[in-house]
Amino acid sequence: MTEPVLSVRGLGKSFGALKATDGVSLELRPGEIHALIGPNGAGKSTLIGQIAGGIRPDRGEIRFAGRDVTGLGTAARARLGLGRTFQISALAMEHSVLQNVVLGALGARGRAMRFWRPVMGDAILVKAAEDALERVGLSDHAAMRTAELSHGQRRQLEVAVALALKPGAFLMDEPMAGLGTEGSLRMTAFLDGLRAEAPILLVEHDMDAVFALADRISVLVYGRIIATGTAEEIRASREVREAYLGEEDA
Ligand code: ADP
Ligand code: MG
Repeated sequence: MTEPVLSVRGLGKSFGALKATDGVSLELRPGEIHALIGPNGAGKSTLIGQIAGGIRPDRGEIRFAGRDVTGLGTAARARLGLGRTFQISALAMEHSVLQNVVLGALGARGRAMRFWRPVMGDAILVKAAEDALERVGLSDHAAMRTAELSHGQRRQLEVAVALALKPGAFLMDEPMAGLGTEGSLRMTAFLDGLRAEAPILLVEHDMDAVFALADRISVLVYGRIIATGTAEEIRASREVREAYLGEEDA
């Protein structure tokens, strides 16, 4: 089998007595969308944070692109090609839409550049940012203040920020959150095409999107993965229905 792009082994993080993640192992393979689902408080965002580098794991190992990245910070991991979107917007609201994408792309290249180069004069960065905006359909809004964007457009912008890094893998924490039906469908179609470029670890509550997109699904409950499989396998799993999906039938 092909080498996974990303692999996580035995990852754990406690907040006091609470084990937010408790021995999580999973793999992200080339070309796949691997969805991570589970009830609120299951540890999904904590896991994404540990993989992205913002939350230091108490134990376990993270390998990305053939390297052990467990000891690296977020900027170093982003430079290696881990592209991330956030559950809660991390955009600079007073900056223009284009500036946000440029700053995001720049962040991945290291802080030093920020001080020594006039950012918006960097033709390569600006071109990469414009291309990313084009792909998410925000070209016409490039000069707008980010605060003026609708909620759905901000989510598109976050994806553009991640795209501008030209990542080797995407980590997405609820990219559909707050999007209406139409916005979710548009984002679903976009992510469907994106997997060819880089695999996606997708945390999402929108089960229509998850079952439409995921090549594989892992179910996280109380910090532990209770099942990993195809959409059909997860739907058919009694354990999963009882622990999570069953809630919807109740
Ligand atoms: P999910 O994204 O699946 O909803 P989280 O990873 O956000 O879950 O949270 C998992 C558990 O860890 C929750 O019980 C949450 O309250 C707790 N938690 C998350 N972050 C912190 C923190 N910084 N300090 C204390 N507890 C936290
Ligand atoms: Mg979360």
